[in-house]
Amino acid sequence: MDSLPPEEMPDQETICAHWGEDRTRYLGAVIPPIFQNSLFTNPTCEDRNENRSVDSYDYTRIENPTTEITEAKIAALEKGERARCFGSGMAAISSTILSQVKAGDHVVAVETCYGPTRDFLKRYLQRFGVTTTFVQGNRPEEWEDARLPNTTLFYLESPSTFVFHQQDLAALAGIAREHGITTVIDNSWASPIFQNPIEHGIDFVVHSATKYLGGHSDIVAGVVVGTKEKMTAMIQNEGHLLGGILDPFASWLMMRGIRTLPIRMERHQQTTVEIANRLLRHPKVETIYYPGLANDPQPDLTARQLRGTSGLMTVRLKNQGKEPSYRFVNSLKYFGIGCSWGGFESLALPISLPGRWLFEPETNPIWTIRMHLGLESVNDPWNDIERALCVV
Ligand SMILES: *Cc1c(COP(=O)(O)O)cnc(C)c1O
Repeated sequence: MDSLPPEEMPDQETICAHWGEDRTRYLGAVIPPIFQNSLFTNPTCEDRNENRSVDSYDYTRIENPTTEITEAKIAALEKGERARCFGSGMAAISSTILSQVKAGDHVVAVETCYGPTRDFLKRYLQRFGVTTTFVQGNRPEEWEDARLPNTTLFYLESPSTFVFHQQDLAALAGIAREHGITTVIDNSWASPIFQNPIEHGIDFVVHSATKYLGGHSDIVAGVVVGTKEKMTAMIQNEGHLLGGILDPFASWLMMRGIRTLPIRMERHQQTTVEIANRLLRHPKVETIYYPGLANDPQPDLTARQLRGTSGLMTVRLKNQGKEPSYRFVNSLKYFGIGCSWGGFESLALPISLPGRWLFEPETNPIWTIRMHLGLESVNDPWNDIERALCVV
């Protein structure tokens, strides 16, 4: 089923339900089995070494039938040719970045990207003679200006997951292609349901599948999608040699999460848009950072790049010190206090952000609250939020 030409690609819901699966291989089982094994054996030495059939497997660090189904679904959802699962979002991100740099190379990256990604680029890669220039990134000219003759990689996160800055994907892909630069984007926030960067010309899409793809806060996982050519080199090098694979059981849980991805994303969107709009009008709230609202600073990009918006937003209170932020979050009853997001549960966490990220002249950090709306109704979380805002 995964060999259909692109024009015959089914809808995303059908991909989630059926793509990459062949029940005749698994005794008719509706759910593919978990191939929880490290190796595969062969009847003869010749079968193992010379006459490998398309249906033969070797070793789970290289390939695994359960993981393969999950990868086929994600590649199809992202409109790419090939996907590879990793043991975490960071394993996927670091492997993809490493596949595109060598000593002496230069990277341009969006400064508001995920913290450990920034640390990997800024500090860790420096040990290997790779340098990074960070840009605010909302205007394509900043990338053009930061580009050096030895730049090999543009690293994007759009929308970025703290302040939701967006980058112009088609424009950056155009600049990059002109200069032989590879583009990578972290698409965890929108998920493939709401944004497909490959359609805009981006080379590699990475996800923390710990978030929406898994969706149930029970796995840590990552995935990378791209063209067959680019992915083959990356899989053979960083995939096989660094070996940060996803365990078959976690692949199976991700596959199970993906079956409900479209309806989960729809529900996250519906609840979050409603609550974000109510918060935007609330007298105790200074502003909300979340694409698509009336205060969206980049409505053109939202319209061009996003088909929808997910469940994570950042709230800035009028009374914006650390104490009121802590008081507000500590008073919430239905929101867990925790750092992740993308699961069924609602979460809240006070975080201080550099003023510059919020287009403020202040050099002091600004306290905000990062909130994820899970799969609850609007009513219960909203009543909870309204009650908690009374103590601010
Ligand atoms: C969580 C996260 C990651 C890292 O993913 P892990 O699965 O925790 O390694 C990367 N990017 C973004 C935007 C994230 O939120």
